[in-house]
Amino acid sequence: MRSIDWKKIKGFIFDLDGVVYRGNKPIITATKKINELIKKNYKVTFLTNNSTKSQKEFCKKIIKCGININSRFIITTSVATANFIAKKYKKGSNIYVVGSRALKNEIKRKKFKISKKNVKAVVAGLDTNINYEKITVASNILRKGKLLIATNPDKILPNEKGFQPGAGSIIQSIIEATGPKLKKIFIGKPNIFLIKEALKVMKLNKKNVVLVGDQLETDILAAKNFNMKSILVETGVPNNSKKIKASLKLKSLKNLFIE
Ligand SMILES: [Mg+2]
Repeated sequence: MRSIDWKKIKGFIFDLDGVVYRGNKPIITATKKINELIKKNYKVTFLTNNSTKSQKEFCKKIIKCGININSRFIITTSVATANFIAKKYKKGSNIYVVGSRALKNEIKRKKFKISKKNVKAVVAGLDTNINYEKITVASNILRKGKLLIATNPDKILPNEKGFQPGAGSIIQSIIEATGPKLKKIFIGKPNIFLIKEALKVMKLNKKNVVLVGDQLETDILAAKNFNMKSILVETGVPNNSKKIKASLKLKSLKNLFIE
């Protein structure tokens, strides 16, 4: 992908973990730059593969980092996953969920029941209370041919101290326990569900928006899959892929100069 034609750009989509903050610690170079962009009237949305918080909780966290934003400009995999289920299954159906309270709440809000019995599909995301029992229940349902709806494939998450296991590590254990006939779909990046929702909220065309992320295999690949411009920042996870390239690579957002 070639460089960015700044005259065309009217908005930015920012990933959160590793771009705006690490754990509870804001990345000051990023928050400063994002505020500058907002002042210059660029439209800004935040988009996260992280399913552990509600839009309102993410909003509070972003405001605490020093960026004033409305929660509707935050697109989470919990919301996108619940939207996906609502399109695919009848209201009132039973869904088995391995995941956070926020994820379960979004699914309940769409009028689905969370249960182990007569299940239509299994949803899996980051669950900090994951255990052997949950993997057993999920894999036994999936072995009967039900669909695994996974929030996101990120294997690790950057935090204040270093890293912690991401949803992808939990989901992978369910996949391994189920066996080769598993049917699955990932809602988060590198799939493009979240980006489409973000563009809708911003009322902008993908040609006028740049996606900023810290992971080649999720953020930058999603932008590439959708033929969008992207910026890779080195403030989050380490990247090993040589195949995926961002339009621009920066040590930090401090180094972003719009000409
Ligand atoms: Mg990230």
